[in-house]
Amino acid sequence: MQTSIQVCKLFGIPVRLHFTFLFIFFAIILAFANWSPADSRIPLGLGGLDLSPFMRYLLSFIAAILFFFTLLLHELAHSLVAMRFGTKIHSITLFFFGGLAMMEDIPRNPAKEWRIAIAGPLMSLALGGLLLSAYLVLRSLDPAIYHPIGILVMTIGIFNLMLAVFNLLPAFPMDGGRILRALLARRMSFLKATRRAALIGKIFAFGLVIMGFTRDPFSFILTGRWETNFWLPLLAIFLFMAAAEEERATATFATLEGIKVRNVMRTEGTTVPENITVTELVKAMLADKTTEYAVVDANGNLRGFVTMDRVKKIPALQRDVLRVSDVMLPYDGFVDVLPGDAPASEALKRMLHDKKGILAVIEETGDDLIGIVTRSDLSFYLEMLHGSAPE
Ligand SMILES: [Zn+2]
Repeated sequence: MQTSIQVCKLFGIPVRLHFTFLFIFFAIILAFANWSPADSRIPLGLGGLDLSPFMRYLLSFIAAILFFFTLLLHELAHSLVAMRFGTKIHSITLFFFGGLAMMEDIPRNPAKEWRIAIAGPLMSLALGGLLLSAYLVLRSLDPAIYHPIGILVMTIGIFNLMLAVFNLLPAFPMDGGRILRALLARRMSFLKATRRAALIGKIFAFGLVIMGFTRDPFSFILTGRWETNFWLPLLAIFLFMAAAEEERATATFATLEGIKVRNVMRTEGTTVPENITVTELVKAMLADKTTEYAVVDANGNLRGFVTMDRVKKIPALQRDVLRVSDVMLPYDGFVDVLPGDAPASEALKRMLHDKKGILAVIEETGDDLIGIVTRSDLSFYLEMLHGSAPE
């Protein structure tokens, strides 16, 4: 299922909106339109101000758009620093609790990682400072107590300052957690540093749950009253899952360290000719007890891939007529092949980005096909490694 849509491209990076971002977008509009500035220490929201409903919601809509842009600038700051270090940025996605810059090959160099991590909070801090200064200027020009534009500018400014502070908390997977991991990784292995930073993140998430159900410091700062805040436990669930996921992914890549594609590939019953019918293909699958093949032409050259999923879509009547070449996923150039001595982690990386889930393996010298690797081969191999290596 497509859960996000691309809205634009900045510096060549696709910017995507996740469907959950819509909720936060409308929540901001509603909150900003109705929250009364007289209710808090820092005047936020347009509630109670003498505005027409149109003006009120127009300004709230602008607030939500500004919120979107400042969040995007935060992610863009991470991305631009990463790009300077030669890291490819897959996309920037904005979703419920914020943004995420999807990077390929985040450098495992602590000095680079902490610079990438700190760029976002620094951007938010700068934006917050800039907007609050703008608020002070507006205030001096028009000293009316609650000026809607002033409140708008200040709200986004405060939001950015909070974003910076919150992100700097040393809890993985937030930016502060990444900075912490980079510092830890100077003294221990990357995996161990990840585990420790993730543990701190989980403890922090647990603390958020308790705060949410009892005393929320954020509402205290804003209103001067200790209140409960059920957003915090929700945020905690998200943090906990993200910390666990980062730990798992890092452990997986660490497990594969030193292992070559040659070690995980399959060499028996790996190819079928492109000109056999789908019925014959199904027979071959049953005989070889496999569900994936590399498809080759008469000269043994790679033409594409075919899997059981493709076959399932073919109605029984057409299976005697259609040939493998009609139903295969065509060969897509270098993204589909790896030499035998390539790291197995590279195969995993490609499979995470590509839905195909199958790669052809070729000789290190020359381009003779020597095997295939599928997603299930990799997970089976990882299972075995986990089983054989005590913690
Ligand atoms: Zn960030």
